[in-house]
Amino acid sequence: MYRTTTCGALRSNNIGSVVTLSGWVQKIRDKGFMIWIDLRDRYGITQLIFDEDRTPKEIMESAKNLGREYVIQVTGKVIERASKNPAIPTGDIEILVTELIVLNHAKTPPFTIENETDGGEDLRMKYRYLDIRRNPVKENLIFRHRVTLEVRKYLSNEGFIEVETPYLIKSTPEGARDFVVPSRMNAGQFYALPQSPQTFKQLLMVGGMDKYFQIVKCFRDEDLRADRQPEFTQIDCEMAFVEQEDVLNTFEGLTKHLLKEIKGVTVEKFPRMTYDEAMQRYGNDKPDIRFGMEFGELNDVAQHKNFNVFNSAELVVGIAVPGGNKYSRKEIDKLIDWVKRPQVGALGMVYVRCNEDGSYKSSVDKFYDQDDLTKWAEKTGANAGDLICVLSGEKDTVRAQLSALRMELAERLGLRNPNVFAPLWVVDFPLLEWDEETQRYHAMHHPFTSPKPEQIPLLKTNPGAVKANAYDLVLNGNEIGGGSIRIHNKQTQAMMFDYLGFTPEEAKEQFGFLMNAFEYGAPPHGGIAFGLDRLVAILGGQETIRDFIAFPKNNSGRDVMIDAPAKIDQEQLKELHLKIEN
Ligand code: ASP
Repeated sequence: MYRTTTCGALRSNNIGSVVTLSGWVQKIRDKGFMIWIDLRDRYGITQLIFDEDRTPKEIMESAKNLGREYVIQVTGKVIERASKNPAIPTGDIEILVTELIVLNHAKTPPFTIENETDGGEDLRMKYRYLDIRRNPVKENLIFRHRVTLEVRKYLSNEGFIEVETPYLIKSTPEGARDFVVPSRMNAGQFYALPQSPQTFKQLLMVGGMDKYFQIVKCFRDEDLRADRQPEFTQIDCEMAFVEQEDVLNTFEGLTKHLLKEIKGVTVEKFPRMTYDEAMQRYGNDKPDIRFGMEFGELNDVAQHKNFNVFNSAELVVGIAVPGGNKYSRKEIDKLIDWVKRPQVGALGMVYVRCNEDGSYKSSVDKFYDQDDLTKWAEKTGANAGDLICVLSGEKDTVRAQLSALRMELAERLGLRNPNVFAPLWVVDFPLLEWDEETQRYHAMHHPFTSPKPEQIPLLKTNPGAVKANAYDLVLNGNEIGGGSIRIHNKQTQAMMFDYLGFTPEEAKEQFGFLMNAFEYGAPPHGGIAFGLDRLVAILGGQETIRDFIAFPKNNSGRDVMIDAPAKIDQEQLKELHLKIEN
């Protein structure tokens, strides 16, 4: 038997008993006549003591030869510690070792296995198995387990069935590129890895499964932005015989359950906001509503005053930065530089200082008097002591820029408190999105999303204005879930494909299976998918999803530990009917 208990279990009421423990050598303090070792396993740390007077000589000797991260098994008596350590749960006791077995040697690890390690990101990823021994990483993985367990519990209780769908499928257009897998048995043909199980979950509804979920890997071959993974996990869900309201209520229930069980936070009914309203008030379809700084549109009060920059702009819009009047000229210049960075792309920024005495001082005093600026303050909700930041330009662009500034300032002002949770639903997304590059409309969510039935006629005259029964669940400025009510009849689906530029042949070739299924009694249905990695990171109060994935890929999509992707040999290529041009 390797162990009778773990390194996290022993307390003072165990004093006197003889125990066997196995684990890793965390730390050695060798005083010659006495040696202390911190023994570590997943459950904690227990101090071992080897003492010239009480420990057999050969054991004393072999203890002296141990190194960091050796795997050992020890037997000994639990005794009271002379100097107790209140910082750890086992701090009252230690083990007076009488038997020691070295189970395995270890090379000196390339970084310290401590909460604060000296290892950089690359090194930690290369030796991820060592990184996982560190508390913060280990705790994150356990935390993730707790979240997924609660998801499964909640949805099972609500009558959902977890069904697995295949990984080797045909492309589904969700907007990203597919990862493809060549078929050995079907020369020249390829599977695609699912970007999501979208069509399968819809077919499960046709199959009468009614309430489905799956915690499932999805694959998207996108250019990796910071903190995206080419393979990621979704909580994928679908329900039949539901309207949007049913879906929102069900998954609001799930989210509340997670917040309560995992964070001990009770949230009342989630606010709802239309997409249009979110864009207008926050310039963003995933607004962080933990703080104000809402947009004030200033066209009415800022145009037609000889300031050409504003006169020629589609939108003039500002935010009030609480307490911002204390910024020095230099600090404001830095802020202006910040909005001019290529990542944000503003051409400049107009600002108004709201003085404590109620007067205003702006960077455009030549064009605007105190009465004008008073109106700006009203529209942006600025108080004395604030700074109003104003951007102008093409509507969508300027909203995105001001939203970036709002988030940056909130971060700097400490308004993005990770212990505050402010979920909301954003609803009524546009059905279609104009793509400049291809000069045509794309489905904003995916091609299976139902337009609002009463707006279908509008598709002919003003497709961009048609709203969908599509919704996102937003938490603290992150989209954590998104879904829609689906099309469930063949004609509407065929019409949708037509709008999206598919020929009837292309639609049939790619989605014939779904359209056929719709002819055999497809129930009305809808669903949602949550991004599990991000959800776990936010609940864990952290930013990077990598920290909650056991074996993540780096920013170039590489697994640096196993060194993938990698070349394959000629033989394998031949079998797969592939030729690589050199
Ligand atoms: N398949 C969608 C996605 O992955 C989610 C959904 O519509 O349920 O974003």
